[in-house]
Amino acid sequence: MQLPDALAPEPTVRLRLDKQALAHNWRALDQLSGNASAGAAVKANCYGLGVGACVPVLRDAGCDAFFVAHWTEVEALLPHVDAAQIAVLHGPVRDDDVAFAKATGVVPVLNSLSQVRRWNAAGGGRCHLMVDTGINRLGIAPSELGDPEIAKLDVDVLMSHLASADEDSATNERQLKAFRECLPAVEHNRASLANSAGIALGTEFGFDLTRPGLALYGGIPRPELANSIRQVAFVDAVIMQIRTICEGDAVGYNGEFIAPSPMRVATVSLGYADGFLRSRGPGAALQHGEALLPVLGKVSMDMIVVDMAKTPELGEGDWLHVPMHLPDAAEHSGLSQYELLTVIGSRLR
Ligand SMILES: *Cc1c(COP(=O)(O)O)cnc(C)c1O
Repeated sequence: MQLPDALAPEPTVRLRLDKQALAHNWRALDQLSGNASAGAAVKANCYGLGVGACVPVLRDAGCDAFFVAHWTEVEALLPHVDAAQIAVLHGPVRDDDVAFAKATGVVPVLNSLSQVRRWNAAGGGRCHLMVDTGINRLGIAPSELGDPEIAKLDVDVLMSHLASADEDSATNERQLKAFRECLPAVEHNRASLANSAGIALGTEFGFDLTRPGLALYGGIPRPELANSIRQVAFVDAVIMQIRTICEGDAVGYNGEFIAPSPMRVATVSLGYADGFLRSRGPGAALQHGEALLPVLGKVSMDMIVVDMAKTPELGEGDWLHVPMHLPDAAEHSGLSQYELLTVIGSRLR
């Protein structure tokens, strides 16, 4: 059954994207990349914010290199960008992936000698090559670069990935040096090392192409980026019910909050299924203008209860603002900025 548009119910929780901020962040990261151009990591549905909303904005800002993790993520991008601008980071794990790449023109990132052989066996063609310079996750070992199968490749981007770019760690310089040493070993058009935090480490990490993800979407992995990056994702949720509770009343599952005195409280349409995980509850507050509305008790799947003492004027149907300043929310909840975005629930879209 197809609902007529006029009948479509209004959501009670929503994600708003500041598309100008997203475009601004890409341009800022492109500038900070020095002589390199910035691409964009758009995996995990643009870190939870939606490919359909974000990719056209990045494309129109000037981005022409898009990275997803899975082959299944390609389809959502194809209406918006050329297949040749899309690269799949997991690489051809199976023969079917090679067939898909060949048929669409999407570019595989080859991560192992077995992936290289699989690609060559199918006739090869333009590809990217990931070298592991110390994260020990995906990528070919530098010692394997002399393999004759590698010499057969048509490598566009030779890349590696930083393990600790968000920290002041000796690993960064070590990986930079190791990556530089790999460059003469493989013929390639472009080199790429830096993610968002890597861009902030300095233009020597930029090479030809950078691959920011988190910072595009408002994350700040290093303080150097704080003044350049703007918040992109904003979440609001509706008050569904107001009640007055008595001294000693318990709120929510397991009664973890006990009212110390009579209180006016609101039940809000926001829960862990929307990405507001339990770890975000304790000590947190929703906002209305300057007013803070502390979260009371445990976060449920579909709702939370907040203290309305500061906002007597609000009632059922009013919207409250969910704090989504990523560095602050990460510090508060113990979640990473990446997790805060990627867990945003599908009901918000
Ligand atoms: C996810 C990812 C990125 C983007 O990293 P951010 O820290 O989000 O900027 C870049 N390169 C690779 C290989 C990735 O997997």
